[in-house]
Amino acid sequence: MNFYVMTLFPDMIDSCMNESIIGRAVEKGILSIKAINIRDYTLDKHRKVDDYPYGGGAGMLMAADPVVRTWEHICEEIAGNRKEESAEKKPKVVYLTPWGKRFDQSAARGLAKEEDLVLLCGHYEGIDERALEILKPDFYSIGDYVLTGGELPAMVMMDTISRLIPGVLNNDDSAVYESFNENLLEHPQYTRPEEYRGMKVPEVLLSGHHANVEKWKKERSLERTLKYRPDLLK
Ligand code: SAM
Repeated sequence: MNFYVMTLFPDMIDSCMNESIIGRAVEKGILSIKAINIRDYTLDKHRKVDDYPYGGGAGMLMAADPVVRTWEHICEEIAGNRKEESAEKKPKVVYLTPWGKRFDQSAARGLAKEEDLVLLCGHYEGIDERALEILKPDFYSIGDYVLTGGELPAMVMMDTISRLIPGVLNNDDSAVYESFNENLLEHPQYTRPEEYRGMKVPEVLLSGHHANVEKWKKERSLERTLKYRPDLLK
């Protein structure tokens, strides 16, 4: 999977996405993450990317042209990398915005099927609508709150999607048996020692009885889901 992040702050992406599990997947060549600076695609000598909104209102808006030019450059690069038969197909673009549909595990599963994914990060008060009309992105929000920019949401999305790509996790089953699979939250888990500060690991987990262990896990999952996220059970 190749991620292309359109941003005014590429260092934010570069400094966070090269660590731990995601960093190792990049090293192994399973993922690539490229942060592209929208400012590099301005045409004026001041490299201006924002301006006042027509009709007034608070703050500044990202202008359409640098955004559209950055996207055109990425499309050309992707077309050059792809095999001839799919070169014409435009990559999927996602614009991170508080008014988008809520990003969740099921959306991540869908997006993990893409070969290339372009993530557009807004800043200031957002982006001139005409750029969005040209790029025709999917709109995703990571929650009902407003952040200063799309970089953190883009990283949340990339991290979530990457875990679903075969080979990224050491054990691919890790991404199957966890919260939100089958609309359940994960059961409680324990590691050594068997007793910690007087608290013992549930006996059934030490029994080696596979069917009983599975039954226990399912029941605890249901219990936890009912307590913390009953909406998932509807
Ligand atoms: N004026 C915009 C509005 O009211 O919808 C908010 C702009 S916000 C300050 C700047 C940028 O941060 C947005 O363009 C978007 O890319 C990103 N952003 C902020 N909150 C977000 C969220 N909850 N999910 C996804 N992106 C978000």
